[in-house]
Amino acid sequence: MNFQIAVIPGDGIGPEIINEAIKVLETIGKKYHHHFHFQKLLAGGCAIDKVGTCLPDETLDLCKKSDSILLGAVGGPKWDTLPGEQRPEKALLRLRKELNLFANLRPALLFPQLKDACPLKKEIVGNGIDICVVRELTGGIYFGEKGRKSSDIMGEIAYDVESYSVSEIKRIAKIAFEIAGKRKKKVTSVDKANVLESSKLWRSVVEEIANDYPDITLHHMYIDNASMQLIRDPKQFDVIVTSNMFGDILSDEASIITGSIGMLPSASLGNSTLGMYEPIHGSAPDIAGKNKANPIATILSAAMMLRYSFNLNKEAQAIEDAVTKVLKQGYRTPDLIHTEMQLVSTKEMGEQIIKNI
Ligand code: NAD
Repeated sequence: MNFQIAVIPGDGIGPEIINEAIKVLETIGKKYHHHFHFQKLLAGGCAIDKVGTCLPDETLDLCKKSDSILLGAVGGPKWDTLPGEQRPEKALLRLRKELNLFANLRPALLFPQLKDACPLKKEIVGNGIDICVVRELTGGIYFGEKGRKSSDIMGEIAYDVESYSVSEIKRIAKIAFEIAGKRKKKVTSVDKANVLESSKLWRSVVEEIANDYPDITLHHMYIDNASMQLIRDPKQFDVIVTSNMFGDILSDEASIITGSIGMLPSASLGNSTLGMYEPIHGSAPDIAGKNKANPIATILSAAMMLRYSFNLNKEAQAIEDAVTKVLKQGYRTPDLIHTEMQLVSTKEMGEQIIKNI
């Protein structure tokens, strides 16, 4: 089969980790007789430097026409002083909105081989952690009305509005329940319904949707408690469904208990098979260009692309199995080194995964 993949390497470590994911996909293509056509596109800080905008029209057009999008990371200190609307990260928000990618799936899986890299005590981790954070991606405070105004009494005021519609909550809740149905059948909906009106609506709509899934257990949890419970007893969670901002924060927290932020993939999905796949981490400017970045999150994002956008399940599994084997063999990028293991670079990690496919 033929697949057209729009590739956005982006900034910082983006190009390094994307190269390894492309090589892994090419290996899968050869082994399973698929043709993956990669088209590298500009977005982020590098696009600002080259063409003066973080998301050129051509990039958006070609993304819309592709079968799927694979993204590294965007942003960095060079562009930190730009006003909000012109910053590299705006490219991601616009891509998500324009492509209506409202559901962000962030599986946080602690590989048994990485237990030593997990900062939690062994008795807390037990037999492992396997959580899927389902984050709403195109609504809430990141997309709400924002601005500044001045008042005679208080001086300058800045505001960002959190708002959710019933339909936005319904569609993300349905995805969470569907995913839970294929896992341990438990959904924890995280909100701040004791304070926020938008959370009160969130809670009542999630409860309404739960009626259609009688075999799935639903729990509600406040965000402050959830962020504590994730450290105290992460094994209690199966699927977490939450708003854009709460999901952003909770999934970073979930990432570190899996050993490193360099391990966590993500899929952003909408109503069609076109999805955007990217590691959850940023452009890691502190290690960019040093061949030190962990490419596994991006490689696992490519596996998610095969599964969710192309329905190539055994090919996705082949990548995931290869990652497990490489970790069993003891290969570790610097972010994962905690005991006597074989230290490898970004490229060497990619090569080892390819060897195991
Ligand atoms: P970051 O995720 O880039 O880095 C946080 C820490 O994790 C750093 O110490 C970094 O070295 C480490 N790290 C991240 N990815 C790693 C990997 N694959 N292997 C090994 N170590 C890794 O977060 P930050 O420092 O807050 O942000 C840096 C830039 O990235 C900022 O401009 C930010 O806006 C941007 N950002 C982009 C995205 C995205 O493109 N999706 C997401 C988050 C942040």
